[in-house]
Amino acid sequence: NTGESTASRSGVAVKAGTPEWEENIEYFIKKKLRVWCRPANGKWELGTIVSTSGEEATVSILSGNIFRVSTWELLPANPDILCGVDDLLQLSYLNEPSVIYNLHYRFSRDIIYSKAGPLLIAVNPFKKVQIYEDNLVQAYKQKTMDNPHVYALANTAYNEMMRDEVSQSIIISGESGAGKTETARFAMHYLASVGGGSSAGIESNVLCTNSILEAFGNAKTSRNANSSRFGKFTEIYFSVSGKICGAKVQTFFLEKSRVVQVTQGERSYHIFYQLCAGAPSYLREKLNLRNACEYYYLKQSSCLLIEGVNDAERFRILLEALDIVRIPKVYQENAFEVLAAILWLGNISFHTGDFENHAEVVVDEAVTTVARLLGCTTEDLMVALSTRKIKVGKDHITKTLTLQQAFDVRDALAKFLYASLFDWVVEQINISLEVGKESAGRSINILDICGFESFQRNSFEQFCINYANERLQQHFHRHLFKLEQEEYETDGIYWTKVDFEDNQDCLNLIEKRPLGILSLGDTDVAFTIRHYAGEVSYDSTSFLQKNRDLVHVDSIQLLSSCSCQLPKLFAARTDDHSLGLSNPNHSGGGLDFQKQSVAAKLKGQLFKLMHQLENTKPHFIRCIRPNEKQLPCHFEEDLVLQQLRCCGIIEVVQISRSGYPSRMTHQEFAERYGFMLFDSASVSKDPLSISVALLHHFNVPPETYQVGYMKIYLRMGQVALLESRRKQA
Ligand code: ATP
Ligand code: MG
Repeated sequence: NTGESTASRSGVAVKAGTPEWEENIEYFIKKKLRVWCRPANGKWELGTIVSTSGEEATVSILSGNIFRVSTWELLPANPDILCGVDDLLQLSYLNEPSVIYNLHYRFSRDIIYSKAGPLLIAVNPFKKVQIYEDNLVQAYKQKTMDNPHVYALANTAYNEMMRDEVSQSIIISGESGAGKTETARFAMHYLASVGGGSSAGIESNVLCTNSILEAFGNAKTSRNANSSRFGKFTEIYFSVSGKICGAKVQTFFLEKSRVVQVTQGERSYHIFYQLCAGAPSYLREKLNLRNACEYYYLKQSSCLLIEGVNDAERFRILLEALDIVRIPKVYQENAFEVLAAILWLGNISFHTGDFENHAEVVVDEAVTTVARLLGCTTEDLMVALSTRKIKVGKDHITKTLTLQQAFDVRDALAKFLYASLFDWVVEQINISLEVGKESAGRSINILDICGFESFQRNSFEQFCINYANERLQQHFHRHLFKLEQEEYETDGIYWTKVDFEDNQDCLNLIEKRPLGILSLGDTDVAFTIRHYAGEVSYDSTSFLQKNRDLVHVDSIQLLSSCSCQLPKLFAARTDDHSLGLSNPNHSGGGLDFQKQSVAAKLKGQLFKLMHQLENTKPHFIRCIRPNEKQLPCHFEEDLVLQQLRCCGIIEVVQISRSGYPSRMTHQEFAERYGFMLFDSASVSKDPLSISVALLHHFNVPPETYQVGYMKIYLRMGQVALLESRRKQA
């Protein structure tokens, strides 16, 4: 969508090879200023230029080694004074090695938060850092601390909500394991402590919802032992006096396939293992519960435990949380019945009977237990799992299923039950949280959604996630431009709007009828999308199947005939959730229950979400994962760089470059450089006049700065030049 490849953007700010930089190279040699150079090994190193000839430069790097590199492999480095700055925009040179160096420098000092203009960057420390204590909550609240921190961001959101009476959003993104959910938790913790203390301790209920949703929606994956397999949008409502008075949770794209299919070394949803390990004996008996290792759905991946996690203990905590949120005990047990039914469903097996390709359910403990837990007869269950009704003329005839079809029907039922249960849990939580109706319409919303994904093989799940991210990126861009423009306008300086490519084309490609990818309903295609964060090729195998997400209509009928509460409810729900209602879809010679396609539903959800976000003031957090192994103190520069590119920090930098990235109040500017005016008596004492005098005195070219009412705005690189003069003075 942007035409230009990410790699070629690597030299943003001062691009190597541009006339600007060619002129500067001479200056850098003369002043022996530090540069970044990239010898053949591909890693950027700090050094100084010894000499140049044509397009080649000889550079001495810090280790003492001398390299000859093309001048294209040189970039300016920042002066010492800018080492480890809080905000990347303070850097005079905003190229990739400088950005990485700055983040790495801070990370190795346990400073995990930084800013990139309006963005907060959080680099996952993968260890406990002492920056979340209660006294720090107080410090950020009283503004005795204001360095980059999720608390500072939450505090800004809270204050702006109170001051401007406008709802706020905290939008957290980043790849799996980057720390989004932890960051969201810290933000909520902060808000609960500044907005707590109102009716009935509602703030602790809000915090409790996290542990409930994590039990049902998180799982161990190869990338994160507590990976959220769904997106979450939490609205926290505040009263006029700024106290939390209610909350509401919305969820997106729960990964259902995990219930029936788990990759080696990963786990299904935490709740299954917690239930198996922690259920008290009366419940075990009631549910005919076994250990996790006895259930096919759980044991298929040969991973039942998570190091350092006690599932039984987690179950106890979950029960407490369910009680705090006031989900009645009967409801809790209903939910556990559904979970046990799903586990036992996975143990149901089939054999071919007298006829080949004619599946019959093996009559054993599994099938009788499922029937009992759902509240139907074993016979009805067996029929629903091994046959389907087909309409021929006016009559219905019964057709037997092949072995494969029978397994598919079983798995589809398990997925349907789990997804319905998940939605139901969210609903119960919402019923309990929407206590305060006196919210005055103010809220702080927190969005925790999986970031852009690009793997070797990308399927429907990646497509959905990347589509959602494409939408969020657009929101981000628009906001960023608006902010820039507003600041320049309020400070009375002239600024032409930067022409920057939007990702609307890409969104159109995905969404627009009749050719949008979402509407290519029945064409099997393999395709590549050039997303804002890079190209992704999607493998369309099972794409359509996953998109249709069919449930056997016989299964729905079976559930509606069950005597147990929840299965019956879930079946009834299919009517109002579906677009074409129980529209019989003739696929595979039988009747399937055709719901609204997953992508169409997602599109609707995203439109609603964007609408909600557009009515709020956004605050963006990008979480970064510093290494693949989830280890503390490991900062892999390439991996970080890749994420910075993916999450658009490079764009933020690009946008800033086209404006005036360095800004200082006249006060700050005068204090730092004022002493260099020889004739300080001749200038008046007000900071604005000192700023102007300084600019004249040093012949700073007029096209490289603007003087606002409050601040002075400087083009990229100007601070570095002033700094080098300051050193000489
Ligand atoms: P996913 O997309 O898979 O849900 P995520 O971005 O939500 O991933 P988290 O679950 O928040 O990632 O974080 C992964 C792990 O990283 C946490 O379990 C925790 O061990 C560690 N972690 C994240 N943030 C912090 C932090 N601020 N301090 C200490 N540890 C952290
Ligand atoms: Mg998460």
